[in-house]
Amino acid sequence: MPTLLALMAGDAAFSTERTPDQELIAEATKVLQSVFGDNVPTPVEALVTRWASDKFARGSYSYTGPSFKPLDYEDMARPVGNLFFAGEHTCGTHPATVHGAYISGLRAASEVLDSMLGPIQFPTPLIPPKDGDAKRKADAAHTAINSRNARLEAYDQEIYHFIVSKIGERPFPPPKCYANAYRIYTKENSEEAKRRCELGRRPGKGKPIVNEVKRMVSTMWLGASEEEKRPYEEKAEAEKAVYAAALADFERRFPVWEAEAIRLRSVYVAEHPSIPGPDEVETSPGRSRRAKRVSGYAEDSDSEMEM
Ligand SMILES: Cc1cc2nc3c(=O)[nH]c(=O)nc-3n(C[C@H](O)[C@H](O)[C@H](O)COP(=O)(O)OP(=O)(O)OC[C@H]3O[C@@H](n4cnc5c(N)ncnc54)[C@H](O)[C@@H]3O)c2cc1C
Repeated sequence: MPTLLALMAGDAAFSTERTPDQELIAEATKVLQSVFGDNVPTPVEALVTRWASDKFARGSYSYTGPSFKPLDYEDMARPVGNLFFAGEHTCGTHPATVHGAYISGLRAASEVLDSMLGPIQFPTPLIPPKDGDAKRKADAAHTAINSRNARLEAYDQEIYHFIVSKIGERPFPPPKCYANAYRIYTKENSEEAKRRCELGRRPGKGKPIVNEVKRMVSTMWLGASEEEKRPYEEKAEAEKAVYAAALADFERRFPVWEAEAIRLRSVYVAEHPSIPGPDEVETSPGRSRRAKRVSGYAEDSDSEMEM
């Protein structure tokens, strides 16, 4: 939903708490109209939060007052008996933030664990070194996996080249089309908008920034007549039509290409099977173990079926 958000700080925050909604909405709308012109409508819906009077908040987030002391946040985080505290106001390094609240939750959770189980003992070193034999086996298994992956990747490339040589490249959908009249207008009129921003500019104010230019384009668009807007609307429609035609063409061609590619793949695989290299076959204890387990299962069950 297109939504605007306004934040109040300092004295404005206190007076907002006491001002009726309608007055606040009228004031905010007036500010918008002074920037974007009288056409700015009253909002469809508005929500005013009053955190200071909300009994579950009593304010928005913590801040340090004039008599703040460096350990205040640590004091707020200190447990009282078996009562533990989390929340952004207990995180001295990142107060008033979501990440501060999150970090404080981790800290409080670990304090709860400590109080229930005692400190957790970590082995040193954390990860025990692998014994020589196990390491050799693991390395060999990795080599096998890497060789297999490399072979299959190269084989896939081979198959794809074969397919492309027969039926050409795979069709791709056209790039998404975001055409709309206002975007086209912005593209074609940003120089003019920049020129208008510079007109009557106070000396020394510097060049107009991107947002000023954007606002000017928006004002120009709002002020443009139907007649002036029509060519942009027509261009947008034309771009959409080109996209729709390209998409329809893709949707027609792709299933045909794909079906033929699947057929050619099986032809190629039958004629040129990919043979596993010696690295792959010798060292795949995982697979041989699995195969054994399956046959044991069949034998145990007295099944007649061979697996
Ligand atoms: C307008 C605004 C913009 C912000 N923008 C950002 C930002 O861009 N980036 C950022 O990192 N942080 C931002 N923050 C700060 C961030 O939202 C807070 O620091 C964070 O949500 C605090 O999390 P918390 O869990 O400590 O407290 P809260 O999220 O305040 O959670 C406390 C919960 O306790 C409940 N509660 C209170 N009293 C009781 C009770 N008696 N019984 C039961 N429940 C109770 C409350 O209803 C509330 O759900 C912003 C805050 C505001 C107000």
